Amino acid sequence: MDRSRLFAAAALLSLAAALTACQPKPTAAPPAPAAKPAAQVDAARLAAAGTDGANWLSTGRTYDEQRHSPLKQVNADNVAQLGLAWHHDLDAVNRGQEATPIVVDGVMYVSATWSKVFALNAKTGEQLWAYDPKVPGDWGINACCDVVNRGVAVWNGKVYVGTLDGRLVALDAATGKPVWETLTVDNTKRYAISGAPRVAKGKVFIGNAGAELGVRGYLSAYDAETGKMLWRFYTVPGDPSQPFESKALERAAKTWKGTWWTQGGGGTVWDGMAYDADTDLLYFGTGNGTPWNAALRSPGGGDNLFLSSIVAVKAETGEYVWHYQTTPGDDWDYDATGQLILAQLKIGDADRKVIMQANKNGVFYVLDRATGQYISAKPFVATTWAKGFDPKSGRPIVNPAAHYGTTGKTFVSQPGAAGGHAWHAMSYSPETGLVYIPALDLQMSYTPENNRKPSKYTFNIGFDFAAGSLPQVAAIKAGAKAGAVGHLSAWDPVAQKEVWRAQYPQPWAGGILSTSGNLVFQGTPMGEFITYSADKGTKLWSAPTQTGIVAAPITYEVDGQQYVAIEVGYGGAFAIAAGEVARDKHAPSNTPRILVFALGGKDALPADTFVALPLNPPASTADMALVDKGFHLYHPYCSNCHGDAAVSGSFIPDLQHSPVLSDAAVWESIVLGGARKERGMVSFAEELKKEDAEAVRAYVIYRANQTLAEQKAAKPVG
Ligand code: CA
Repeated sequence: MDRSRLFAAAALLSLAAALTACQPKPTAAPPAPAAKPAAQVDAARLAAAGTDGANWLSTGRTYDEQRHSPLKQVNADNVAQLGLAWHHDLDAVNRGQEATPIVVDGVMYVSATWSKVFALNAKTGEQLWAYDPKVPGDWGINACCDVVNRGVAVWNGKVYVGTLDGRLVALDAATGKPVWETLTVDNTKRYAISGAPRVAKGKVFIGNAGAELGVRGYLSAYDAETGKMLWRFYTVPGDPSQPFESKALERAAKTWKGTWWTQGGGGTVWDGMAYDADTDLLYFGTGNGTPWNAALRSPGGGDNLFLSSIVAVKAETGEYVWHYQTTPGDDWDYDATGQLILAQLKIGDADRKVIMQANKNGVFYVLDRATGQYISAKPFVATTWAKGFDPKSGRPIVNPAAHYGTTGKTFVSQPGAAGGHAWHAMSYSPETGLVYIPALDLQMSYTPENNRKPSKYTFNIGFDFAAGSLPQVAAIKAGAKAGAVGHLSAWDPVAQKEVWRAQYPQPWAGGILSTSGNLVFQGTPMGEFITYSADKGTKLWSAPTQTGIVAAPITYEVDGQQYVAIEVGYGGAFAIAAGEVARDKHAPSNTPRILVFALGGKDALPADTFVALPLNPPASTADMALVDKGFHLYHPYCSNCHGDAAVSGSFIPDLQHSPVLSDAAVWESIVLGGARKERGMVSFAEELKKEDAEAVRAYVIYRANQTLAEQKAAKPVG
């Protein structure tokens, strides 16, 4: 479709309308019917969202963030008739798409890579408007985990999006035009926003990311109408020579040692939030510390509050109410930022109002949400970093070998930094009483790095990326690939045990939707959209999606028809960083799309046009000293986006395939000259010299020839 022609046609039409308006009117024309106001969402509608199956009004569907829908037109008996009703290609870069769409009164609002927002007719897929916040391409390096966005919020005719470069923007829901915009971060520091805002009581709540990159975490509340900041809760204490922002932070400072504030501290609030309208408490999870390595962050120990914690504050004022720290003194990037679900559970004889999280550290937590009191915790995946958990408090009894910063020795931990669960939203069905967890079975090797100075464009985490790189040994590589898997766990939060699981040969399957049709929906990285029976886990239906899925599905109803929608597009933290372990564990195509299914749907996707890039590197002629120097520069400068050991497991270009490898001048123009900064590839000229760029090129050429030799050995000619 030629969009410029469409715009031209629209302009002519409005010109004609303007001319018509200037003509004297013989008789008064009847007034045009007023367009239905867009996104009319208020406190009453949000409070009643639980029974409003037709709409999906906030990212977690309800304030409880259960992601469970009462709709059951599509159910376990008829799901075989589910077919594609429509699809819409998003004008977005084909990296990770992690957004949960919002649907209000037949209109879908959804975000995509680089914080773009789209409004679509939820019945037909027709695009109503698009908004591009025009995030500068070179801000992409300030996002640890891909240029993703997990969704928007709606309130009183406006759509809210947090942009990768730290702005909170309110859009007119009818037109997509900005109403107000405010910078929520100090943009001299490496903050980024990837998470969805939440709205309650006329306030928009937004956090940020950057705990790998030297920032101080916080959550802010803004007036939804004006964009004025109302309060801010810092998650870690600042410089103790200055007044603390609150008594809570003064107490928190006693759990730190050294000069943590000079490194930022971390504790960023980059994803999970929930709101309890009864108690007016806002809950959120906090991230890891800066650096990860606790021996460098807080020498001599300490719990380091409020890192890796679930925190409750008063929504009205941001005043601290309680916290529960899931990983005291965290060394492993065990953010407590995963989705938070509120529910009422029968525990013993008591009806308990609880908050639940399947934490990155591999443990499923159930807490009293009014007080933060510990109720129970159990590992839902293997947890080699802990020897056990205190039965009264849930506090981990850490395996001493896991403190790699203290021992100075490598520790292979499960979970690793991707966690047992984090990004991919889970759901809770009050009908089955089960939480559906998109779980990860991943290990990671942690080696301390003590001497490198913090730099502008690397992760500053006290972790040696070169030492953690996958060894180029066939048996080790095969084992690592085979061991990197994932599963969907149907978890009983009362008994704290798994009831059923669906095992996947790949990790990083998408978020979950459950429905009263006894269905659980999940997409996979291989490009399959699946439904299971919610009670037993029987696979009932699936559809090919061509593209891998990270995001969570939603369901809604328009004109009596139930629809199930999913945003497809593979990417995110594991995909971009894990290199060969992630390669081939996703669909080869990656078209950013919304797919919407309904009973009897007859739409079809266009033919998949994926063509594999050839591997045709120049001969490796550099001496091994240069290659080795390149290896130690590639990690950590390049590996966090282009993948470990120069293998891309995502859709960020695999440098081994780069045609630029054979041209030192063009390579330099990109690495040092910033020729591709608009696409996210910044200039490293402040940090790397010409000979450094050349060393990295030599290393990538060497690796490409290694890979070529492996491929030839695996596929003998003839
Ligand atoms: Ca983190």
